[in-house]
Amino acid sequence: MFDICELCEPETLAEAKAIYAANPELKVIAGGTDVLIRMQHGSLAGAGLLSLRCIPHLDEIQLLADGTLSIGAMAPFTRIFEHELIRKLVPVLGEASVSMGGPQVRNVATIGGNLCNGAVSADSASTLFALDALLKLETAEGERIIPMRDFYAGPGKVNLLPGELLVAILIPREGYEGMGGHYIKFAPRKAMDIATLGVAVVCKIRENRFVELRIGLGVAAPVPVRCFEAEAYAKGREVTWECVQEIARLALKPAKARSSWRASKDYREHLIEVLAQRAVAEAVKRGGGCCAN
Ligand SMILES: Cc1cc2nc3c(=O)[nH]c(=O)nc-3n(C[C@H](O)[C@H](O)[C@H](O)COP(=O)(O)OP(=O)(O)OC[C@H]3O[C@@H](n4cnc5c(N)ncnc54)[C@H](O)[C@@H]3O)c2cc1C
Repeated sequence: MFDICELCEPETLAEAKAIYAANPELKVIAGGTDVLIRMQHGSLAGAGLLSLRCIPHLDEIQLLADGTLSIGAMAPFTRIFEHELIRKLVPVLGEASVSMGGPQVRNVATIGGNLCNGAVSADSASTLFALDALLKLETAEGERIIPMRDFYAGPGKVNLLPGELLVAILIPREGYEGMGGHYIKFAPRKAMDIATLGVAVVCKIRENRFVELRIGLGVAAPVPVRCFEAEAYAKGREVTWECVQEIARLALKPAKARSSWRASKDYREHLIEVLAQRAVAEAVKRGGGCCAN
């Protein structure tokens, strides 16, 4: 049984924002795969809930006129990895989406909830970092659009203002066009397991040279990180095996790995280098390049 004091189920986004503005103490619930567990464990006991489930169109995945891919915050992971636009434009996000949880969890867990819970292990986060995604946030007062890197404030903490909702994830055309990509989730089990490390890579290759490379890491630091030094090193370079190895070494730079019961700091650092190497090599292949010596 869940100890819930109140459940608000607005049917429009405007109504949701108005209720939230008047009652910022409400706990937003999307798929509930995190919130309900916290309620059951007692940390949210007695909370009032603001459900987003009855609001239409908040789960839509669409291509905007300027080529930006818009993913509604309420889109569940099953819909994401099955969606035609995701498969065509950002298959790497489909790869990350299908790696999370199991089928039952993916059917209800939303991409918005995955980001707003602030977990560094969130499977969509490192991939959206690599895709240079933006977040559309709205309150009753207005909207703001911020880059992913400005959203994470610390372990389990995100920059949401009182009364603010995540409405959509935006991936501008430059974020995905012409990119090969690969996501590797490392976890002891193949399903229903949280990432020990997540590595997402996207790259654009022309005449076997890196035009652009972006690497996002999850669980390598207290918040997801981008590997800017490795990315800058790659720019303009010929794709060789030595180059890929150097990129992987540089991918360690932003890491602030720590020891936990899942893995030691040394093991995580080893994983970062090895998995970055593998993910870059595969992304290069998918981008039409070849790791020649
Ligand atoms: C068995 C199991 C396995 C799991 N495996 C994985 C896994 O492999 N990988 C992984 O990344 N996660 C995993 N999770 C964690 C969880 O399923 C995901 O984080 C999920 O995406 C959360 O989405 P949700 O819609 O259920 O969020 P909810 O539980 O509804 O909400 C999560 C948080 O986000 C806030 N929130 C939600 N939507 C919004 C919004 N639009 N605007 C503002 N705030 C919002 C809520 O207030 C809450 O703080 C697992 C969970 C379970 C129970």
